[in-house]
Amino acid sequence: MRLRVLGSGAGGGFPQWNCACSNCARFREGRFAGSARTQAQIAVSAERNNWVLLNASPDLHPQIEACRDLWPEGRRQSPIRSVILTGGEIDQIAGLLVIREFQQFDVFATAPIRRIVTEDNSMFRVLARVANQVTWRDITVDRTFETHGLRVEPFSLPGKFPLFASPRLLEDANPGDAVLGLLISSTSGSGTMAYLPGIGSITDALLERLSACKLVFFDGTFWTDEEPLGIPGITRTARQMGHVPVSGEGGSLERMSGLKNTRKVYLHVNNTNPILDEDSRERRIVAEAGWEVAWDGMEIDL
Ligand SMILES: [Zn+2]
Repeated sequence: MRLRVLGSGAGGGFPQWNCACSNCARFREGRFAGSARTQAQIAVSAERNNWVLLNASPDLHPQIEACRDLWPEGRRQSPIRSVILTGGEIDQIAGLLVIREFQQFDVFATAPIRRIVTEDNSMFRVLARVANQVTWRDITVDRTFETHGLRVEPFSLPGKFPLFASPRLLEDANPGDAVLGLLISSTSGSGTMAYLPGIGSITDALLERLSACKLVFFDGTFWTDEEPLGIPGITRTARQMGHVPVSGEGGSLERMSGLKNTRKVYLHVNNTNPILDEDSRERRIVAEAGWEVAWDGMEIDL
């Protein structure tokens, strides 16, 4: 199973267009030891020339161009065969509009997320201009499904439906369908990868699941719980935003320190997070704890 990190940043990427925090400002001035990051996006492949996207980021166009594996073959045929949505936020669905060119592919999502995308937002009808353009396939939580040689086990994470969803659609929607975590392996028997880019807390049951995984892409959005409070206009802590912080009591560094046989990679790193700075104390702490920080272009084979 091949994994390509097309984007490793949180919403807005790094640097973020309207942000002049220490990280963003120093990056623009050429005084930052670290790379720019587009918004979180992973591509997975178990079969030659067949690729599955985990969500569809707004940065999908440059991300595809930056990854040779995803370049079209023949005259007009992308190797992207399906997209798996783990939620319905803009950062997870806007890229669907980027790949609207009469290209056939499947989109896997829970039924409420499918309805939010296709019924709440008429713009997404561009994905249904011709028969069989995009085929929506409903995900049932805790029911394994397969796509192009990948076996995917979706499970529910605490989280909310997008704020823009119309109340009408949410009336009978199961809250457990709002945000998913994924365990992915190849049907030919690769190791298992866990995909958890947005998660508000770490339960013992989750740690048990992760201990059987070879690799985990985990929520690296914020360093501390209070970090977002320093961003003008934001009044919620990291946990209140659905992101367990990296550091501190109950943070991912502490809670996951017992996972000795799992390769641990922080993904979805916000532009304010000091671990983006390769010279920072925080980055050293993360590295010494055995964690990696994902970067755009990172390739992993399992
Ligand atoms: Zn910033």
